[in-house]
Amino acid sequence: EKLLSYSKYVVKEEDAANFSISDKFDSKGPVNIEIGTGRGKFITSFAKNNPGLNYVGIECKEEVLIKAVKKAEDMELQNIKFIIGDALRMNEYFSNGEVERIFINFCDPWPKRRHAKRRLVYRKFLDVYKEILIPGGEIHFKTDNEKLFEFALNEMSGSGLRLKNITFDLHASDYEGNITTEYEEKFAQKGMKIFRCEAHKID
Ligand code: SAM
Repeated sequence: EKLLSYSKYVVKEEDAANFSISDKFDSKGPVNIEIGTGRGKFITSFAKNNPGLNYVGIECKEEVLIKAVKKAEDMELQNIKFIIGDALRMNEYFSNGEVERIFINFCDPWPKRRHAKRRLVYRKFLDVYKEILIPGGEIHFKTDNEKLFEFALNEMSGSGLRLKNITFDLHASDYEGNITTEYEEKFAQKGMKIFRCEAHKID
């Protein structure tokens, strides 16, 4: 209930499925999404730095999402919405070609092989992302987990996405403009390497 009281920012799953999210923004145009937004540092920073673009954070845990929503309100952001929902149902929330870029940051690695289908970069998820991306649309992925990174690279190339800008140590690389997430800061403080890649939809 508390989360839904932030009606300027929060879109219920059923509303996301029944109405076009693009209509909820003042300025029209494709949206940028973060899946598994968590406490929202990453997407609120992006939204603040790019007031001309629209951002949507998707998160399934309400108690975490409220922190992201409060950040957006404190920053008085006009170009961001949050959906309480599931990445696998994104083709219900967005129409084909409505999304320009998808960010997946430090998703749960689900290390056991029998849980591979739960990883947010598993092929079934990628198929959903491909449906809603514009031609040439991009998935940007970061993780601290090398095995998950290898898995992601295989799944992405196996799904016909074109891999670009792969780095095995983001913070030591010459990549500019990185915005850190809450998890990324924790891992970096421990001296762990951060892996990053982009996967572009070809057609
Ligand atoms: N991206 C944030 C960061 O880097 O600080 C949070 C990372 S946290 C490990 C992963 C987040 O993804 C959790 O908040 C979890 O609830 C969310 N999540 C996991 N599966 C999801 C799904 N299928 N749909 C939406 N969110 C999901």
